[in-house]
Amino acid sequence: VTAEAAALDAQDALAPLRKLFKLNPATSYLDGNSLGALPLGVIDAVQRTVSGEWGDDLIASWNTHNWIDLPVTVGEKIAPLIGAQAGQVLCVDSISINLFKLLSTGLALRPERRVILTLSGDFPTDAYMAQGLAQLLGPDRCELRRVSADRLHTALDTDVAVLMLTQVNYRSGECYDMAALTRAAHEAGAVVLWDLAHSAGVVPLALDALGVDMAVGCGYKYFNGGPGAPAFVYLNRRHHDVVQQPLSGWLGHSQAFEFSPDYLPAPGVRAFQAGTPPIISMVALNAALDVFAHTSVAAIRDKSLALTEHFRELLQERGLLERLECLTPEEPERRGSQISLRHDQAWGMSQALIEAGVIVDFRAPDILRFGFAPLYNSFADAVRAADTLADIVREERYADARYSKRPAVT
Ligand SMILES: *Cc1c(COP(=O)(O)O)cnc(C)c1O
Repeated sequence: VTAEAAALDAQDALAPLRKLFKLNPATSYLDGNSLGALPLGVIDAVQRTVSGEWGDDLIASWNTHNWIDLPVTVGEKIAPLIGAQAGQVLCVDSISINLFKLLSTGLALRPERRVILTLSGDFPTDAYMAQGLAQLLGPDRCELRRVSADRLHTALDTDVAVLMLTQVNYRSGECYDMAALTRAAHEAGAVVLWDLAHSAGVVPLALDALGVDMAVGCGYKYFNGGPGAPAFVYLNRRHHDVVQQPLSGWLGHSQAFEFSPDYLPAPGVRAFQAGTPPIISMVALNAALDVFAHTSVAAIRDKSLALTEHFRELLQERGLLERLECLTPEEPERRGSQISLRHDQAWGMSQALIEAGVIVDFRAPDILRFGFAPLYNSFADAVRAADTLADIVREERYADARYSKRPAVT
């Protein structure tokens, strides 16, 4: 570790939070943007739920342990982290499923329009779900249009019902201007749907203040809810009870336990629930979110920017920015919580880094991602990652024949 990194870690007010996580001290985990680390409190919470609640109290737990309320309880815990007043956030399903529900809602809110506009190069599931919806509704009712960022403003014409955007691009780590783009969508008469997968929990958000219409976000990335943790939906109060989302399942019914023959949606965002929630996963996410009570998203953002800034300087000092292309913008307000580097040997580099204890990931075809989770990453992690990458590049270890095969998940 350098003296500078040691000093930065010594001054870091968030440093004590690292011990709230189970982390292997022999590794630097820089993949919290893909799967957050395990908060120790989750272990006890899940153990209690599995053994004490499911094991001992069985079905009574739906009432006695408030399992039935968890989608709302966890949604309300997420709300202040994304700048939402109560009653607008529900923890439910996956981002993909929630996109389908919200895109349908957005089209129904603008019945005279049919276009879902988005940026090319965003995370594939967002466009895939829009394509599935377009196929279901037919070309008269729904069409997906994808444009590059420089064409977005001209593409926002009077056909656009929904502008669907991801705040931080998963590949480049570029952070888009939510205030300006939300305003542009509204000026064009469209509703805006933000995907917060790479920003919730690490970028301060003000959904209510900006008048955002709808949003989705991820439970297993910066919220550390564990593999397959449920996602969340945000629906601005002004759109509540206006149109019906199409996945009209029984637990989104206003009186689920009346078992009546016809669907009648629950009021507000609760109508976005369809079926039975995954209680064990939801308990894990609920406990994981308790870590945020020790700090603020603003403090997390400050540290995130300091970490990515420091890492970029270290790459520069080691001559690595001449060998690899940095895709992440330099301006702090345009930067998410990762640094992405492009190189045609990025896959081999990612594998050599992981073997050396620096856990990063690779995005096809040629991107190496270093994700910084300020709740548990240190400036020492940044130094180790930069030093290890410098060694790998100098020794050309990325070319090793062991790295010729790729597994199913990268
Ligand atoms: C991680 C991620 C998802 C994941 O979607 P799931 O349906 O929850 O698997 C979706 N969109 C973006 C932008 C992501 O980064």
